[in-house]
Amino acid sequence: MTDKIYVATNNEGKLKEIKAILPDFDVLAIKDLGFDFDVEEDGETFAQNSYKKAQALYKLTSCRVIADDSGLCVDALSGAPGVYSARFAGEHGNDSENTQKLLCEMKDVPHEKRTAKFVCDICFIDEDGSVFHAYGECLGLITRKPRGENGFGYDPVMLIPEYGKTMAELSPDEKNKISHRAKALEILKEKILK
Ligand code: IMP
Repeated sequence: MTDKIYVATNNEGKLKEIKAILPDFDVLAIKDLGFDFDVEEDGETFAQNSYKKAQALYKLTSCRVIADDSGLCVDALSGAPGVYSARFAGEHGNDSENTQKLLCEMKDVPHEKRTAKFVCDICFIDEDGSVFHAYGECLGLITRKPRGENGFGYDPVMLIPEYGKTMAELSPDEKNKISHRAKALEILKEKILK
């Protein structure tokens, strides 16, 4: 049994966090395989998308793989941007435009209605092809302006009330203890180590 795990993502922010949260595993990126990986994320749920990405990478490698599908669900926007988080403003992965669009849509929403959650579905496929999903979420409030330099995506506008800081103001270690991704990966870790 090998402790190598390939991660089905081109998102450097996610990859860095996954490596930090799974220090006991040899976490490898798609770029370490030396080929392009582009899967259309057209599922209606985070779990459908993570499965699609994991399955595509498993077919290529026949190794243990994980895929993370994650996003921000805002109550005042009926759960949007949700599965469309990466391309909320149009272009895939343009963090600053996505964040600006979110703040614009939330401009008239009062403080107490600015509740939101980050969610993460991790799909793990083992060497024998068996599939396991792990889910995590992290609750917060959408700020009125971006704050902080750490993290990626919507981190600068997601206030974590217990810390009085946005995700982007938390240190990477702090984020990796409380994030949606950390919670899902902790569940996965337990499953793998069992
Ligand atoms: P996908 O999982 O590739 O569809 O993209 C997830 C998108 O959700 C990212 O591009 C970010 O916009 C957002 N997102 C997911 N996780 C985080 C996080 O930990 N912090 C901030 N934004 C996140």
